[in-house]
Amino acid sequence: MSTIRNTGLFILFIAILGSCRKSEVPSPQMKLVADKSEQFDVSSLALIPGKSVMIQGFYWNVPTGGTWWGVLQGKVASWGSAGITAVWLPPSTKCESGPNSVGYDPYDYFDFGNFNQKSTTETRYGSKTELTNLITAAHGAGLQVYADIVMNHNGGGAAQANPNTGGTTNTSFLPASGLFNRGYNDFHPSTFETADEGTFSSYVDLCHANPYVQGWCYGNSNSIAQTYKAMGYDGWRFDFVPGFHSWVVKNWIAAAGGFSVAEYWNSNVTTIQNWIIGEGNTTSAFDFPCYYALEEAFINNNLTALSTYAMLCKSNPSKAVTFVANHDINNIYTNKLSAYAFIMAHEGTPCLFYRDYEEWLDKSKLNNLIWINRNLAAGTTTVLYADNDEYIARMSGTPGLVIYINNSGSSLSRSVTTNWTSAGIKDYTGNVTGTLTTSSAKTVTINAPANSYSIWSTL
Ligand code: ZN
Ligand code: CA
Ligand code: ZN
Repeated sequence: MSTIRNTGLFILFIAILGSCRKSEVPSPQMKLVADKSEQFDVSSLALIPGKSVMIQGFYWNVPTGGTWWGVLQGKVASWGSAGITAVWLPPSTKCESGPNSVGYDPYDYFDFGNFNQKSTTETRYGSKTELTNLITAAHGAGLQVYADIVMNHNGGGAAQANPNTGGTTNTSFLPASGLFNRGYNDFHPSTFETADEGTFSSYVDLCHANPYVQGWCYGNSNSIAQTYKAMGYDGWRFDFVPGFHSWVVKNWIAAAGGFSVAEYWNSNVTTIQNWIIGEGNTTSAFDFPCYYALEEAFINNNLTALSTYAMLCKSNPSKAVTFVANHDINNIYTNKLSAYAFIMAHEGTPCLFYRDYEEWLDKSKLNNLIWINRNLAAGTTTVLYADNDEYIARMSGTPGLVIYINNSGSSLSRSVTTNWTSAGIKDYTGNVTGTLTTSSAKTVTINAPANSYSIWSTL
């Protein structure tokens, strides 16, 4: 990492960022793209543990009409050049709500926009060809592609008499793909079990204790897992995992491999940690406890939460996917970049939210934070100071860093103990200019501008 960090390229990077701010050059990234791709291979960096950066490639109200895969295809080259290593796509097959579905009401797991049913051939996001073109383009840009897998529930089945309930249920699924036909005994209550851990809304609840369901999900050679893998998906984002047995995820990963991250939407880090252990430690999980700490810090203006709240990225960093916003939770607030600075300068795999990156925040500042994550954010964190409007922490690896977040309306400074003895340091965000020198006792007085942050490391 230090070889990359010390290249002239990096100097150029900072120079470009600096010139961007002064002269408002509209697209500094494009210059950076060409220079970086010549100099080093981002895809090889993705293999360094903890140095992956994801982006969620959608939001709840992305345009309908089947254009979204094409939009993303136009983005992936610049994402790869910025150091993003993976994109999480929305559920990519046909759902009950057809052309309007965001993807969380799955009907036909094998209709990627290539069968005419539920009032449409294409999904909300596009056609199967457009999806495979996107995956190919993402791979070409050095990005992994993660599929969003909804295995708890299904939508859009026809009514049928259900001897397990004695009534009528919407459990008859005869999808146009002809694959994974389902009937009442593939859902709860079945003859295999009455219920599992949870249901979602009024959707019919898949019974994973049924071997037929297991086969189609991950067991068969033409299962969902194997089919998606063959299409080029490299990993998985499992929706609503508290709704079904954790061994479903474990078996899926055993059958198909790949990175995986689970959505266990809960503020309690122990609850999520226990689920990961029960699952068999084969998957990561979204760090909702970290999200709630960020919310307390930057929406309620209480930065002590960043020090005192339990977080998965602190207790189990290799399994934590940290985030500031997602399709379900996406507040716009002041100092949101500081929240990104926190997740980019701590343990865990940070996940950017599409609208934050592409629409709402300063992309050059986010690209700088991605660079810091990939090149400086090594080791474990020690909190050096925290109060309502300040947070200072040190990452102790090589090269490591000191992050200073200032949520107040005036510039602030504090003396801190760094990793470095009698060393020159600078703020790699460019928010503070000039260099400083640490003492023989590793101390130095650093500052952070009002409503901003600085991230310090050796020259
Ligand atoms: Zn969900
Ligand atoms: Ca369930
Ligand atoms: Zn303070």
